[in-house]
Amino acid sequence: MDTILLLTPTEADGSLPRAALEALSAARSAGGEIVAGLFGARTGPAAAQLGAAGVTRVLAAEAEPLAQARYGTDAAACTALARAAGATVIVAPALSRVARVAAGVAQRLGGRIDTHVTQLSAEGGLSASRWYYRQRIEAKLQRAERPWILLVDPGAFPPVAAAGGGTPKVEPVAVELGAELQRSKVTGVRSPTSGEQTIRPDAKLLFVAGAGWTKKQADGQPHADRAGELILGFLRASGASLGTSKSLTDQAGEGQKVLEFMTHLNQVGQTGSTPRHPRGLATCCHGEEPHVVGWRFIRERRAVNLDAGCGWARGKADVLYVADAFAVMAKVNELLGGKK
Ligand SMILES: Cc1cc2nc3c(=O)[nH]c(=O)nc-3n(C[C@H](O)[C@H](O)[C@H](O)COP(=O)(O)OP(=O)(O)OC[C@H]3O[C@@H](n4cnc5c(N)ncnc54)[C@H](O)[C@@H]3O)c2cc1C
Repeated sequence: MDTILLLTPTEADGSLPRAALEALSAARSAGGEIVAGLFGARTGPAAAQLGAAGVTRVLAAEAEPLAQARYGTDAAACTALARAAGATVIVAPALSRVARVAAGVAQRLGGRIDTHVTQLSAEGGLSASRWYYRQRIEAKLQRAERPWILLVDPGAFPPVAAAGGGTPKVEPVAVELGAELQRSKVTGVRSPTSGEQTIRPDAKLLFVAGAGWTKKQADGQPHADRAGELILGFLRASGASLGTSKSLTDQAGEGQKVLEFMTHLNQVGQTGSTPRHPRGLATCCHGEEPHVVGWRFIRERRAVNLDAGCGWARGKADVLYVADAFAVMAKVNELLGGKK
């Protein structure tokens, strides 16, 4: 039977990232003994969370240089934890910090790695599922080589809840973190957007704004400024994440009046992202296949469109409101404002 290591960094306050609790769900479906491996400047709160979730053995690489994400120190910590655990399978959340070092760690361990894992199964030997070709083909993989590192996509598994477990046995793991590994320093964070953050992977709702928001409306005029107010007003009041269509993203390149807070990072679809929010609401978006293919993992879908024959009406949305999105969102914002 495999020894499964749940490998994760801790947050600045020493707690577990949400994606690590999801990776723990994944590790449980792999059907072996689970050991947790933590690295960061503080690990105590994360160990307590793991204990409450029923994990009995925790290895901790706790050191000040691990406070910041850095290839040299993170790769050294991950390799040391994997060796200390004697892990044959390593399950880790696909956080950018982990994804950056995981392939190098596999190389150091003489193992193999697979990424974008969305399912694990112990039946007939361990197998991992992932999607290829923009989420169109699902493959089930098995490997004979060990250790096998599996990076689990955030949002694919439910997070494990605390189940009244006990205090785990915490074993410190020493890691050589010499000055040569600490030459890179994080001096600040620069976000790709100059405005406010609109991409919120943990939001319950994906709000998609399509190109219709910038098109001529019933009075023969476009109302992009009003569109911007309504969209940002809704995002602020609801905490939703903002997605968009390729047409709206591309307009910036064609010199048209655009919504300034939109970037290509918001684009959902075949040549964009495939977000995993439980619910989605599309507005002023036609619902064409290259866009909707990015909604594969959105479980409840609704759309607002003036056109009763738009793509959403053809089995792509659970509910289509045939209505003016300017009027609908003004009313929704008013109702949300009233709740506060
Ligand atoms: C190779 C390839 C890859 C592609 N990849 C992607 C991708 O990754 N993502 C993506 O999104 N697209 C992608 N596309 C483009 C895609 O096919 C569509 O062209 C695009 O999604 C259309 O964007 P839209 O629905 O916002 O705009 P439009 O097609 O212009 O639709 C605007 C909609 O707004 C509605 N509307 C206007 N005013 C209002 C109002 N007041 N109230 C309510 N509704 C209103 C209209 O009825 C219309 O349905 C790709 C295309 C190709 C060929």
